[in-house]
Amino acid sequence: MMELLWLLLPVAAASGWWVARRESANRGGETDRSTDYFKGLNLLIDDQPDLAIEVFTRLADVDQDTAEIHLALGNLFRRRGEMDRAIHLHSSLIARPRLASSQRRRAMLELGEDYLRAGLFDRAEALFRELLDQPAHTRTALARLIHIFQQEKEWRQAIAYSDRLERISGEYHGRQIAHFCCELAEEARGRGEDADAKSWLSDALVRDPGCTRANLLLGQLAMQAGDYSQAIVAFQAVERQDPGYFPEVIAPLSACYSALGRLDEWIVHLRQLQRQQHGGRVTDALADWLQRHEGQEAALQFLEDELREYPTLLGLRRLVEIKLERGEGVEYADLRALHCISTQMINNTARYRCDHCGLIVKSLHWCCPGCQQWTTIKPLPDLTIKTSA
Ligand SMILES: [Zn+2]
Repeated sequence: MMELLWLLLPVAAASGWWVARRESANRGGETDRSTDYFKGLNLLIDDQPDLAIEVFTRLADVDQDTAEIHLALGNLFRRRGEMDRAIHLHSSLIARPRLASSQRRRAMLELGEDYLRAGLFDRAEALFRELLDQPAHTRTALARLIHIFQQEKEWRQAIAYSDRLERISGEYHGRQIAHFCCELAEEARGRGEDADAKSWLSDALVRDPGCTRANLLLGQLAMQAGDYSQAIVAFQAVERQDPGYFPEVIAPLSACYSALGRLDEWIVHLRQLQRQQHGGRVTDALADWLQRHEGQEAALQFLEDELREYPTLLGLRRLVEIKLERGEGVEYADLRALHCISTQMINNTARYRCDHCGLIVKSLHWCCPGCQQWTTIKPLPDLTIKTSA
């Protein structure tokens, strides 16, 4: 019952204004309608929303004022997640023969929102398409259609409608359009059509020169084709575009430099980075290189020095791994347990966070599942173990 009280506030305000207006208008039949409205309000107060809606929708003579109340009620039901009621209310409003055309269009827009929220995309799409030519609703209809096309992975349609939205609104939508191009590139890559994929990625970089995802994919395509030099160019571009994504390219860059026999260049780059940031991924990559090229002792010495000042889980696990490889006698069982624990901690720790809504996830999503924003999920600063000041 209490939860319905907030729902009543705008309805009560609207009906109060409606009654006052009716008193001054002094037209026939107003008493009956006023009685019906109060009856409906009483039913809401008594926590009988079904009967209340019946009363509201039974009001035969829906004019401009009562339609506003219907719209407000329908929207409130949608916000409460009561989609059947919202849909029923907005549908019945649209069906009224005497409804003003502007209000019918608003009711269509609201019904479209109801369908969208209920996941009935086909019905929502049909309504929003009908509203595209109505100047007052074009922008909203376009934005909702783009949302639907994203959900349905209709990327070409999403691009076409985003272009249209950019034209009429003057707003920049290049960042999300670039992701739609990347989605098409990934689909093409999945079909083995690499040339088509590259073409979409070029489009993505034209739409948004800062699109890290496009360069990441270009690097992966080049690696797959054995063109490691080109892959390095693409992965380095990711680092320039947004250093926050550098952890994503450490492993592939290392593999490319290794394949080309240019690991000396890579280690110089890593050491430069290490002077600026002491994250676990950089530490881990440096230790890996040292172990393979200068031996276990050099790697252990580096890790012990580094971890003393900048302790990270990844660095700790690498140190334990090297000690395990050395098979150090009585401590072996303890080291195995420590390795197991640190691995579990790393695997269970979320590594990405959305800058927009704060959602924390374990894997990289280009579109945030929480807020639907593009490129807002980024690798978290490395898994640093907190130390007291
Ligand atoms: Zn988010």
